[in-house]
Amino acid sequence: MSKKETMQFETEIQQLLDLIIHSLYSHKEIFLRELISNASDALDKLKFKSQTDQDLLGDDTELKIRIEVDKDARTLSVIDNGIGMTREELIENLGTIAKSGTKAFVEALKEKKENALELIGQFGVGFYSSFMVAEKVVLTTRAAGSDKAFRWESTGDGSYTIEECDQQNRGTCVTLHLREPGDDDQDYTQEWVIRNIVKKYSDFVTYPIVMEIEREEIPTDEEGKPIEGAKPVKKVTEEVLNSMKPIWNKRKSEVTEEEYKEFYKHISHDWTDPLEVIHINAEGILEYNALMYIPAKAPFDLFMPENKSGMQLYVRNVFIMDNCEELLPPYLRFIKGVVDSADISLNVSREMLQHDRIVGKIRKNLVKKVFDTLSGMLKDDREKYLKFWENFGQVLKEGLHTDFENREAIADLILCATTAQDELTTLAEYVDRMPLEQKEIYYLAGEDREMLKSSPHLEAFKEKGFEVLLFTDPVDEWVIQGLFEYKGKKLKSVAKGEVDLLSEEEKKEKEEQLQKLGDEFSALINFIKKTLEGRVAEVKLSQRLTESPVCLVAGENDLSASMERILKAANQPVPPSQRVLEINPDHELLQRMREIHRSQGETEELKEFAELLYDQAVLTEGSKVVSPEQFCRRLTRLMLKAAAGEPTAEKEK
Ligand code: ADP
Repeated sequence: MSKKETMQFETEIQQLLDLIIHSLYSHKEIFLRELISNASDALDKLKFKSQTDQDLLGDDTELKIRIEVDKDARTLSVIDNGIGMTREELIENLGTIAKSGTKAFVEALKEKKENALELIGQFGVGFYSSFMVAEKVVLTTRAAGSDKAFRWESTGDGSYTIEECDQQNRGTCVTLHLREPGDDDQDYTQEWVIRNIVKKYSDFVTYPIVMEIEREEIPTDEEGKPIEGAKPVKKVTEEVLNSMKPIWNKRKSEVTEEEYKEFYKHISHDWTDPLEVIHINAEGILEYNALMYIPAKAPFDLFMPENKSGMQLYVRNVFIMDNCEELLPPYLRFIKGVVDSADISLNVSREMLQHDRIVGKIRKNLVKKVFDTLSGMLKDDREKYLKFWENFGQVLKEGLHTDFENREAIADLILCATTAQDELTTLAEYVDRMPLEQKEIYYLAGEDREMLKSSPHLEAFKEKGFEVLLFTDPVDEWVIQGLFEYKGKKLKSVAKGEVDLLSEEEKKEKEEQLQKLGDEFSALINFIKKTLEGRVAEVKLSQRLTESPVCLVAGENDLSASMERILKAANQPVPPSQRVLEINPDHELLQRMREIHRSQGETEELKEFAELLYDQAVLTEGSKVVSPEQFCRRLTRLMLKAAAGEPTAEKEK
């Protein structure tokens, strides 16, 4: 047998442990729920694996969770005959941070101490919560199919030990050496305390949770009648503490709010109550029960590749698999829940599920039900919907691009910032507010709402009284391309291509004016174009500017500035594109420049102006100027000149 080895927890584990102990002290009892959940997961895993490998179960076929108490030694053990762990798994699962992104999460946790409880909830502290009530935790485990067992032990102070040990049965035994209870603490060696906690948190666990209960009984005679005068004798019986009734198979009226919440916490490893419960008892051609939850908070790894579907599949009460991706599309991966159907084969595999017609139909129904629930929430409880949107809007939007069939339904659910009001708006509300003469839905995408709001691209729209949607999620531009139009109205970026805001008459007038101005300005336009060669595709008189002197506009089919920035930040190749520099002929500066050009020709000063105007346009679209240093130098020169001569700042009125 190998020697006992002492190993160090990864720093982050120790930090996490300290946080758990110090921020969850008023929720100590949940440690038992966490251990039972782990045991139940281990049994699920074994069951799933044994479908393809019958030998794994051996003689030990009665899957259950046992709680053992030793009052004198003050220990409490949770024992399962599940999948168990190998030595490597032990080290990986209970000594290191295996999940990517967890380190960053622990960092965030340390900074936001006041929200620790909420954040920890999203993470699921599981096993480590034992240290809230135990001064020492000993875990022995033997993996299914292996003949080696290991003992893991720690007092939660930076290190743990591992050694080989004897263990006859497959599975895991976690033994807590309990601390002496403080004044406010419950005594976890008391039968009724354990019974209450199990009932409260783990009643629906689908495996029996058993405990040996000692009772004093009056001996009975052959007919089962108590013998009079006989002394009571101690009798130990194994009792099942949980009802095991799968709550998803109950009728809605039979389930209490509390039960819904506890079940959610059991399957999600979340500590916060869910935002919404969706319970379906489908009867008729397609029979199934489903219990789905919309969490209140997005998990920290929602956008990481390891984030999997939150759905479990059961067939007639029998657990089949976790993370069942076929039950809901990826953009609904935040939903946690269970589906149980009698119409699916017990031996179904992941591969088979993809082509299973019944699963396909169930999926369709589930998606519809989720949409119905969300649109109901949007209509009846805007505040609650906003909470949902804040947490999961970005994921839901992915569906606009990936689920063609449901695009309309998803589009109805999206919320956007807008120039018209501080509150977010739906597309339907936007369309309702559109003035008659407005034909398209206008939007502007970028990183920051405040910055977008003051973008020169909006000027003509503001003047016209046309509302513009402001998209600030990094996925938005990609998403909009998937949406393309809403209720027959095209979505059009105000930072791209031509804008068409005017009535026929106004257009005619404007065109004539521009043509005239074009002649007047054409020399200046050519000069600016020459000066900025290689950086702009064209210089044009603008129809969208009313206040600012210049702005940059992307071609109708080019990437917008913000999309370019996103791609660059992600180290993606950015196709070369040049923007159009639009100049505002009504702006005093450009009129002056035209004057200078006419009277003095292509002066150095005019070149500097052209350069500065270009950099200005780059800055206002939210991008970086190529050479900030040069930009500043030019600006300083200009300021010096102004300071030496006439004051340039507007006089106070
Ligand atoms: P979580 O359960 O949220 O993954 P835990 O810290 O509770 O986090 O557990 C870490 C991992 O240790 C689990 O994912 C599981 O792989 C393993 N584990 C914990 N308890 C058991 C058990 N009773 N049987 C087998 N594996 C277990």
